[in-house]
Amino acid sequence: MHDVIIIGGSFAGLSAAMQLARGNRSVCIIDNGRPRNRFATASHGFFGQDGEPPDAMLRNARDKVAAYSSVRLVHATVDGARARGGGFDVTLSNGEDLRARKLVLAFGLNDALPDIPGLAERWGKTAIHCPYCHGYEFLGRPLGVLATMPASIHQAEFIPEWGPVTFFLNGGEGPDRETRARLAARNVAIEPEPVVALEGEAPELAGVRLADGRLVEITALYLAARTSFQSPIAEELGCAIDDGPLGPVLRTDAQQMTSVAGVYAAGDIARAMHNATFASADGVMAGAAVHRSLVFEPIAA
Ligand SMILES: Cc1cc2nc3c(=O)[nH]c(=O)nc-3n(C[C@H](O)[C@H](O)[C@H](O)COP(=O)(O)OP(=O)(O)OC[C@H]3O[C@@H](n4cnc5c(N)ncnc54)[C@H](O)[C@@H]3O)c2cc1C
Repeated sequence: MHDVIIIGGSFAGLSAAMQLARGNRSVCIIDNGRPRNRFATASHGFFGQDGEPPDAMLRNARDKVAAYSSVRLVHATVDGARARGGGFDVTLSNGEDLRARKLVLAFGLNDALPDIPGLAERWGKTAIHCPYCHGYEFLGRPLGVLATMPASIHQAEFIPEWGPVTFFLNGGEGPDRETRARLAARNVAIEPEPVVALEGEAPELAGVRLADGRLVEITALYLAARTSFQSPIAEELGCAIDDGPLGPVLRTDAQQMTSVAGVYAAGDIARAMHNATFASADGVMAGAAVHRSLVFEPIAA
């Protein structure tokens, strides 16, 4: 019986684990090695680690957490979790069954990319979602924004902060007159033609090939991707889920507890705005809150 099982050992999960380890609680972190930013060669904006490779950051964090004697790190997939008798049973892909008093969900999100040849291999490098994460690197260079959802218009208005923008409607509906005027005020060029491929020596981007054969030269393409949970465990546990701007968001209180008592959630799955710093901060809150519940709930009972 562990005090806590953490499902997902990345920015959120390892940050939660650190608080629990420092509270000398037995904590088991299960992770299957698919952090959301694994496609990027460098991570930006994280306190003191700007520009570091994401895998190096996570390796360092894992080593620090693993140094505590009450911590166990398991490389496996959690296949299922259920509440039973005041605790939780957790089943792993390696056949192991574990039990804990509390759960922290930190299993992250998937991004559903549009099916455009040349996009997937550039994701996180020259096909990107967030200018704070990857934007300064392309300062002053020609940029693109791909329309994937209504909110893409906001992205098209915002990205000119970093360079001149072409807004690719990809054969979709054009913006209304008022929006066109706002885009024109930001010097955004609107390209209605469908996009057929991203071209160049990947991961570099030479430009966007259009259905009519033209190549629009850009060095980076921004797009908003729909998101989904990496694991169905939250639904299976019965946690309340809200619709966020990009996909599902687990409902949590100020202590990161979900609608299911004893189940906490942290990181991208539990917030609408995503980055490694927020995920880590949520993890710290979840870890401290779980620790306090382990200390004080038995006293209150
Ligand atoms: C391409 C790209 C680039 C980015 N660049 C930056 C950047 O430069 N700076 C920045 O601050 N943010 C960046 N982000 C955002 C950042 O990646 C996320 O905000 C952050 O990874 C969220 O951390 P997390 O711990 O919530 O989830 P994740 O990092 O996604 O980790 C979830 C973990 O859970 C594990 N997991 C999932 N399901 C299971 C299961 N069933 N069993 C066991 N383990 C499981 C996964 O393997 C994974 O390790 C980027 C995102 C993308 C998509």
